[in-house]
This record gives sequence, C-alpha cells and structure tokens, in this order.
Amino acid sequence: MRASLRHRSGGTPVKHAFAGHGASRGLALGRARVRLPHVLEIGEQHVPAAKVEAEAARLQAALEAARAEMRALREKLQGALSKEAVEFIDLHALLLDDPDLVNALDTLIRQERYSASYALRVQRDRLAAVFEQMDDPYLKSRLDDLDHIIGRINAHLHRRDALPRGTAGEVLVCDNVAPSELAQLQAQGVVAVVSAGGSPLSHSAILARSLHLPLVVGAAEALAHTNDGDVVMVDGETGEVVVDPDAADLRRYHQREQQDARERRDLERLRSKPTRTRDGIDIALYANAESREDVARAHTLGAAGVGLFRTEFLFLQRNELPDEDEQFQVYRDAVLGMSGRPVTFRTLDLGADKADRTGLALENEDNPALGVRGVRLSLLYDRVFDTQLRAIIRAAAYGPVRVLVPMVSCREEVLLVRRRLHRAVAVVRRRGVAVEAPPLGAMIEVPAAAIGVYGLVDAVDFMSIGTNDLVQYLLAVDRNNDALGDLYSPLHPGVLRLLAHVIGAGEQSDTPVAVCGEMASDPRLAPLLLALGLREFSLHPSGLLELRRTIRECRHQDLRGRANKLLQARDRNAIERWLAAVD
Ligand code: PEP
Ligand code: MG
Repeated sequence: MRASLRHRSGGTPVKHAFAGHGASRGLALGRARVRLPHVLEIGEQHVPAAKVEAEAARLQAALEAARAEMRALREKLQGALSKEAVEFIDLHALLLDDPDLVNALDTLIRQERYSASYALRVQRDRLAAVFEQMDDPYLKSRLDDLDHIIGRINAHLHRRDALPRGTAGEVLVCDNVAPSELAQLQAQGVVAVVSAGGSPLSHSAILARSLHLPLVVGAAEALAHTNDGDVVMVDGETGEVVVDPDAADLRRYHQREQQDARERRDLERLRSKPTRTRDGIDIALYANAESREDVARAHTLGAAGVGLFRTEFLFLQRNELPDEDEQFQVYRDAVLGMSGRPVTFRTLDLGADKADRTGLALENEDNPALGVRGVRLSLLYDRVFDTQLRAIIRAAAYGPVRVLVPMVSCREEVLLVRRRLHRAVAVVRRRGVAVEAPPLGAMIEVPAAAIGVYGLVDAVDFMSIGTNDLVQYLLAVDRNNDALGDLYSPLHPGVLRLLAHVIGAGEQSDTPVAVCGEMASDPRLAPLLLALGLREFSLHPSGLLELRRTIRECRHQDLRGRANKLLQARDRNAIERWLAAVD
C-alpha cells in the first residue's frame, strides 16, 4: 500500500491540515478513500496470431459496454443534473466513438498484435502527447476526459466497475472528479470529495453544489497526505481539510454542525417575511426554475414569481421535439403552480454548450458560443419558434406570463420577436382563447446589448441580465473552461460598470431590470448589486432565504451612497475591499 508523506510514529496518526478552495458548501467527517490518478501501467503485451480476432472482438465488446454505460447514466441522470453535467457525459460518449481512438485501437491489435489493454495504453500515450504539445490549457484539460474514457474501457476489458464504488461515510480523495461520477458517488453514500485539481467553476463544482455534496478542489497536498482509511474532516465552504483531526478539531466540527442547523432553522423563519432592506426598500426575489419541483419550492418560499424558466430543458431530454400541446401543459402547470405570481418563460436557448438530441442545434460550428444559439436559432426555425410562442400564450390564459428572449444582441431581433409574438397571439385568439400579448423582455447577456441598452429599452417591457454569459463574453473567458480559473469572475471593474449602465438605463426608462445569472444567488454580492441600483434578483430557490436574510440586513441608502466608490475600483482587490467594508 502506498505510504503517505505524513509522518507517523508508533502507529499513532498525526494530524495534518491543508486547504484547497471551497467549491460546494457543507461539513463532512468520514474515512478517506484515496483514488490515485489513473495510469495505465501495462507493459508491452502481445497476443498470438490466432487470438487477434478474439482480442479485437473483446475490445469492441468493452467499447460497447462503455457506450451502454454512458447511455444508461445519461438516461438515469437526465433532468436531475445541470445542463453542464449532461453535456459532459455526452462529451465522454462522443469520445467512445471517436475514430482517432477506436480505429487506431483496432489497427494496433490487428497489425501489431497488441493486447487490447496495451493498445489502449499506446494510443492513450500517443493522443496525450498530441494534447500536451498543443500548449492550450483547454485542450490539455480534455486529456482528463480521454483518461476517464480510457479508464472506463479498460475496466470493461477486465470486467471491473469503472466508477469507484463508494461506501457510506467515505470521503473520496482524488486528483479530479468527473461530473458524471458525482451523483453516483453520492447515491453510494460518499459524504464529501476532496480533489487535488479542479476549480470552483468546473462542471463538477456546479453539480456538487446542486447536489449539496461538500467539495474541496485545488487541495494540492491531498494525495500526498492522505491514506485509505484516515479520518478526514472537510469544510466545503472554507476549503479546509483536516486528516486525523484531534479532539479540539472534532469539537469545532460539532459546533459548526450545530451552528449550521441553527442557521437553517433561522432561515426557515424568513419564509413568510418580506424581502425588505433595513431602511424599508422592497426588493423582489424571483426564482429560476427548470422543473415542477423548483416551481413548488419557489411558491412556498414566497418568491415574487419565476424570473427565469429555462424552457430548453424540455427539449434537451429527448430525441424528438415536444409539440405545442405538450409544451402548453408544462407551461400551464408552472403558471398554475405560482398561483397568480408571474412566470417568465425564456424562449429556447439552445446552441453552444446546450446541444440537443433533436437535431436543432447546429453541429460543427467553429465557434458555437458565438454561433447560432438562443434567439438566433429560434429565428432560424420559424415553425419551432411559433409553436413555442403559441404554447406560452395559451398558458397565459391561466395566470400572468412574461416572455424572455435569450442572446439578444440588437434591437432588430427584439422587434422581429415582438412581431412574431403578436402573430402568435392572433392565432391563439382565433381559436377562441381570450389572451393579451404577454410582456416581452430581453436577456442582457451579450456585451453589445448591454452597452447599447438605450436602443433596447423602448423595444422591451423588461430586461434580465444574464451574468453567466455576460461575464464570459465581456471578459472573453469561457464559462465552462476550468483551466481559466479565477479569470472568470464578475468582480471585474468592467463588469460592474456595465451592470451599472444597464441598471441605470432601466431606472431612467422605467424598465424593470433583474439579474438572473449565478451572480444574483451569491449573498456576498448582494450589497454590491444593491449599490448598483438593482431591485430584482432571480436565483435558484435553494438560495432564496439566505439572500433574503442578507438583503434584510442591508441599508439601501448607505449602499447607494457608496456606489461611486465601488465604480472607481480599479481591480478585483479593490472590489473585494469594498465588499469587506460593508457592515
Ligand atoms: C446567464 O447567461 O446568466 C443565464 C441566466 O442563462 P444561462 O445560464 O442559461 O445561459
Ligand atoms: Mg445565458
């Protein structure tokens, strides 16, 4: 067994503490299971000529088993996972069909008479050498995907379970964890994950947060200082990890646990309280919803309405397009679920990282994040768009509805959509349904739309700032690329100035403005958004009460008075200092 670097004397464990980045909040105490980085340690192995066919067939069977495993995983987790995690599983499934991998393996077995495992190793090393030469952090990160897939195929060759088996109460300590593993690990009882690599913005981190599974990433010392079976204490918020904690650590842990439980109880008391600052300014908290459960939770927590209903989820979970009736029923149920509070349906935001299986999103775009996505795709497929608009309009007969358009970059797009919306209203009315045209809003997530917001305000009824995309497009930092680490951050003077500009334009023109990106769900950033003049937040229901609590502690007038200082910040440190100075 591998010995850790941690010094032990006379068999007595010696406490060791180290820190990574907290990526998913929560405390956990469990026994470590250490998973070393995947290395295919296989020496050169040949098979006799008579067995080459059988070896090639064995490889094909392992490939097929791995594909079936990915399909099963996708089906099982579809709908339960964030879109990023599903995309990730799909990427792995694609690799299993990649000719660079599959054909080369077959050739190595047939021509070199390598064993399937050795062929895997040779081809893995060849591809890894190519990735590494490219010197591109994004491509380098794809090497992890390749290794993950090679590990799966190899496991099937040896009929082992490729996903690590978890035991209840274990903390997985590893170099990296894939999103496709997380749900399964949690179902097996793994209580936390500590990884040496990774970033808090990775797909895994996003998924861990939505699963409420504590995760610490970037804990570089983790593998060197932990052995299988060590007791490990993990704080997914601060990133602190203690191996073999002593009595004082355990006391601290239990105190924190009690404190967390108290906090949850306190938060529950805010369910029926208004979201009002100490100086009496009402702030509207809307919910982001993707499912019936989210809508129900938004309702019980007293959300002002649904600020972002991501309709593409209805399209991503299937092979054929949902028809008008099916869409209508989903939309109507969401409207009924909010009993009179508005539901904002965002029209289809397919494309880029949200590719579907129905074939709508274009394949092979050189630069899909800048390609045919969001409203551009809807305007390309008139019939699909009109069907969706009619379904939304029919739902408006059951309660207040708003229509939100993603990826708007110019006024012309909004005018086109409004014309289409009015046509769809006319069609629905001719069928005898008495409905008015619902308010139409634009997502502000393309920098040009934000900068040119004065050209949009009279064309829309409301605006919602999609900071997830706005930050990525403004900073030219891919929101899904873990390798870019800290560069993806809303705490950039350019981002804050643009937010202030859009919020100000809304204020001047009396156009309601919300923020519906992840930024709105971070209570730490609430004072900053209030200072910039924001009055509407839209976030996943799980964070709603905590945000309400923070806002109730803020003094709106004071924050607004400090906005200038915030906008003068020249770098992230200055913004952090501004935040730290908020009482
Ligand atoms: C955003 O971009 O901030 C947003 C809310 O939309 P999505 O995350 O679905 O792209
Ligand atoms: Mg977006």
